[in-house]
Amino acid sequence: MGPVEFLYYWFHRALHHHFLYSRYHSHHHASIVVEPITSVIHPFAEHVAYSLLFSIPMLATAFTGTASVLSIFGYIAYIDFMNNLGHCNFELVPQWLFRAFPPLKYLMYTPS
Ligand SMILES: [Zn+2]
Repeated sequence: MGPVEFLYYWFHRALHHHFLYSRYHSHHHASIVVEPITSVIHPFAEHVAYSLLFSIPMLATAFTGTASVLSIFGYIAYIDFMNNLGHCNFELVPQWLFRAFPPLKYLMYTPS
């Protein structure tokens, strides 16, 4: 998951470059009211890129013989839930929880 987050950051950052943003990625950010479904509103090529990117952990575990049904479905459920949580337009997780457990910010994706 570590390499995926690194690659996702730079991929998304590249999508915000004026050239790609104005021609392509702005579609995702055009939501007037951000809601969970906004998290999966992308042009087709972005869906393909994200599918390839987020398959890395599953392929890595498959090739190393450490994959399981629980790890595959757990990973998919986790990234899908976090993606929806980050676009839900309200803070579901209270701020005091992040102050009490600072590393939590590296494990969760919230609107803030
Ligand atoms: Zn973006």
